[in-house]
Amino acid sequence: MSAATATASALPEFRAAGTDLSERRRSGLSRGPIVDLAATPGTIGVSWAADGSARIGAFTTIAMIAADRRIAAAYPGVAAAAQGLATPQIRHLATLGGNLAQRSRCWYFRNPQIDCLKKGGSDCPARSGNHLYHAAFDLGPCVAPHPSTMAMALLAYDATVTTDQRSRLTLADLLGDGTNGTADHLLAPGERIEAIDLPAPLASERAAYKRAISRTYAEWPLVEVCARTVLTGGTFRQVRIAAGGIAPVPLRLTACEAALEGKPADVENIAQAAQLATSGARPLPMTGYKLALLVGLVRDVVEQIAE
Ligand SMILES: Cc1cc2nc3c(=O)[nH]c(=O)nc-3n(C[C@H](O)[C@H](O)[C@H](O)COP(=O)(O)OP(=O)(O)OC[C@H]3O[C@@H](n4cnc5c(N)ncnc54)[C@H](O)[C@@H]3O)c2cc1C
Repeated sequence: MSAATATASALPEFRAAGTDLSERRRSGLSRGPIVDLAATPGTIGVSWAADGSARIGAFTTIAMIAADRRIAAAYPGVAAAAQGLATPQIRHLATLGGNLAQRSRCWYFRNPQIDCLKKGGSDCPARSGNHLYHAAFDLGPCVAPHPSTMAMALLAYDATVTTDQRSRLTLADLLGDGTNGTADHLLAPGERIEAIDLPAPLASERAAYKRAISRTYAEWPLVEVCARTVLTGGTFRQVRIAAGGIAPVPLRLTACEAALEGKPADVENIAQAAQLATSGARPLPMTGYKLALLVGLVRDVVEQIAE
C-alpha cells in the first residue's frame, strides 16, 4: 500500500448501518477510527409538514422508505428507487444518510493495493484500464459513476440535504458537479447528514423509475432513470428526468426535459426527446453501450408516466 493510500484511510469515519463501511474495513481500505451513529429522535422516520412536504431522517432505512405508503403516494419515484436497490437484507439495514455518503464502487478504488485520485493518488487507473461499468459522461478526472440510487431519485425531486453544519444543500452542493475526482461527496470531515427534505409534490404529478442491470439481483445498475411530470390535458408539464450510473454525479437530463415540456404526451414526442438523453455525453472506449441503455430507459420511463 502506498503512503498516500495509508494516509487517506486513517481519517475517522462515521458508521451508520455499516453495509458499505464494513466491506472497506474488511479489505483494509478504511483503517481509521470509527464514529458510530445512533438512531436518535429526529434522525429516523418521516415527518410531514402542513404544506405536504416531507422530511426524512438520515437514519431512516431504505426498507422503511420503500414500504412507506405516504412516500409512495407523494413521491413514487423515490419509493420505486428504494424498492429497487440492492437486496432485501441490505435495504433492511442501510440508511438514507449512508446511501448518499457511500463510497465509490470502482474496482480500482476498492482495491487497497491500487492508488487512485480518491485515495491521494495522481491519476485514475480506470481511465486507462478496465472501465466497463464506468462513466459515459466524462466530466472530470475520475471516471467512476456515482453509486447512490437515492441521490439520483432525490435529484429528480429537487430534494435538499441538511447536515449538523449546513442547511438545505442541493444534491449538487452535496455531491459536486463531477469535476472533483478526489471525493464522492463534498461533506467536510466530521460533517453529518441529519435529514433530507422533499418539497411538496405537485398536484396530480406522476413518476417512475427503472434500472438496467448486468444481473437481475444484488448489483448496482449500469444505468438508472427517474422521471416525473404533470400531465395537463395530455401535455407534458414540469418534466424532471434524472439519471444515474453514467457520470461521477447523478445528472438531470435537461435537454430531454426541455424537449418534452409543453408537448403532447405521444410516443413520437417521447422517442424524439429520449434521443436527446445523450446530449453532452463523452463515452470512454468501453462505455458507449451505456448511451443506448440510457436512451431506451428514458423512453420506457417516460412512456410509463404518460400512460
Ligand atoms: C449487493 C449490493 C448491492 C447494492 N446495490 C445498490 C444500488 O443499486 N444502489 C445504491 O444506491 N446502493 C447500493 N448498494 C449500497 C448500499 O445501498 C449502501 O451500502 C448503503 O446504502 C449504505 O448505508 P449504510 O447505512 O450501511 O452506510 P455505512 O456503510 O454505515 O456508511 C457508508 C458511508 O457513509 C458515511 N455515512 C453514513 N451515514 C452518514 C451520515 N448520516 N452523515 C455523513 N456520512 C455518513 C459513512 O462514514 C461511510 O463512509 C448495494 C450494496 C450491496 C452490498
